Amino acid sequence: MAEAETATKTLQVTIVTPDGTAFDSQRVDMAVLATTDGEVGIMANRLPLVAALKIDQARFHIGDDTEVYAVNGGFAEFSDNLLTIVAPSAEDSRDIDVHRAEAARLRAEKRAQAAQTADDRKRAEVALARAINRINTSKLK
Ligand code: ATP
Repeated sequence: MAEAETATKTLQVTIVTPDGTAFDSQRVDMAVLATTDGEVGIMANRLPLVAALKIDQARFHIGDDTEVYAVNGGFAEFSDNLLTIVAPSAEDSRDIDVHRAEAARLRAEKRAQAAQTADDRKRAEVALARAINRINTSKLK
């Protein structure tokens, strides 16, 4: 049998957060990640990769389905057809509480406006980015 026919066609993907494993699948056809260097599509048998992630979506194509996650930064490591994402938090688009994210967005906007120091402003802007990412991701169910 030709080598191409025996090669693995799917990858295993795991998202690990302090709360536990947010996602685990052994049959992902393609993962699309927002790295700090731009969007990256990862398919089986790709060259190894280590990348920092933006606060953004991660998409996992499995057959005809696409699973979308809000990923709160962190990093991704890919080798030997195993993609591991380590992030401070990650939510399945279907599990996002939009009202909570809207409330967090309003709080963060007020904090950013009232910030007295650059550090306070930066923290508020990061909280705002988390909230906006959750709101945007929830629309992609
Ligand atoms: P909030 O101010 O609403 O707590 P946050 O950005 O401070 O938002 P995080 O500290 O990033 O929240 O996350 C704490 C936990 O709550 C994590 O497990 C995260 O997945 C979860 N979480 C946060 N916001 C939401 C949301 N809108 N829907 C579902 N889960 C959420």
